[in-house]
Amino acid sequence: MESNLEPQWNPPHPRVHLRLDVRRCDVIGDVHGCYDELVSLITLLGHDDLLDPDIPPATDGHKPRLIFVGDIVDRGDKIVESLRLVHRLCQRGHALSVIGNHDDRFLRWLLGRKVKAEHGLRETTEQLNALPKRERDAWKKELIDFLSLLPWAVRINDGHAIIAHAAWHAELQEEKSPDRIRAYAMYGPTTGAQTPEGFPVRIDWAPGYEGPELVIFGHQVYDAPYWHDYAIGIDTGCVFGGALTALRYPELEIFSIPSRAARWLKKGGKVY
Ligand code: MN
Repeated sequence: MESNLEPQWNPPHPRVHLRLDVRRCDVIGDVHGCYDELVSLITLLGHDDLLDPDIPPATDGHKPRLIFVGDIVDRGDKIVESLRLVHRLCQRGHALSVIGNHDDRFLRWLLGRKVKAEHGLRETTEQLNALPKRERDAWKKELIDFLSLLPWAVRINDGHAIIAHAAWHAELQEEKSPDRIRAYAMYGPTTGAQTPEGFPVRIDWAPGYEGPELVIFGHQVYDAPYWHDYAIGIDTGCVFGGALTALRYPELEIFSIPSRAARWLKKGGKVY
């Protein structure tokens, strides 16, 4: 891909990370507690060593092998296991995750804010509350620190690619409002209206996006990875019975594990 990007790039906000040292990585779509498929996908990608609970910290700690598009939690059957794995890999420098809107809502719940336990958050809190109290309380504190610092977007390979949960566009570089940068990266553009299920009506931004960075994103569920010159969507709805997908960068090769079972209906509500 031709690039006219500036060699020096100042992030518009500290939560938009410069990761110029990351040139290759595997980007993983929305996990939503689908731990079994996540384990299979990490194995398929050839990173079996990352599944060892005693894996030592990365010696080249600045080069995570996995980057998650966020939405680790909510809806699925093994949310605690998924979060524990991603948390450990991020802590030890093997992975990085941008924050998803579900992770952010879970963080607000952890902080004691008023959040409705819907859209799968109840599953997260119930599974967390099933842990022994002492373990749970200690981990909650760690999770607050972890989730509070997750970036809104990550820029890799000298700026050739941006990873954000829902969306990105070039003008965000000039955006002065942190709230707008955060909201755009985490939710994408919305019309301001709501669907009958109570979700914000989304604007399909990717077809009209013209770069210059390649944006790799999740959030929007597609039947197969969404493929466009400058945007690749990799949420293939594992929790809804689709698949868990990874994109190998810079080769742009897709790896996918079919969902073992739908845990959630697209219109909301538990399946199992
Ligand atoms: Mn999601």
